[in-house]
Amino acid sequence: MPRYDFRCRSCGATFELNRPMARANDPATCPEGHPDTVKLLSTVAVTGAAAAAPAPAGGGGCCGGGCCG
Ligand SMILES: [Zn+2]
Repeated sequence: MPRYDFRCRSCGATFELNRPMARANDPATCPEGHPDTVKLLSTVAVTGAAAAAPAPAGGGGCCGGGCCG
C-alpha cells in the first residue's frame, strides 16, 4: 500500500499515512487534530542506493599533496 506524506499547516508537523491510491487525495488529519494539511510528494518510488552517487575514495597512488613528485 502506498505511503503518503502530509504536512500540517497549523503546527508544521509532518506525518505519514498508508492508504489505498483511491484515497490518496482524501483529506488527512494531523496527529495533533488539525484538519488543515497538505499532501507532500510521494516517496513510493524510493529505491535506496540508486539515488546516491558513490564518491570516489582513495586512488591516485599518491598522497596528493605534491610530496611524490
Ligand atoms: Zn497540526
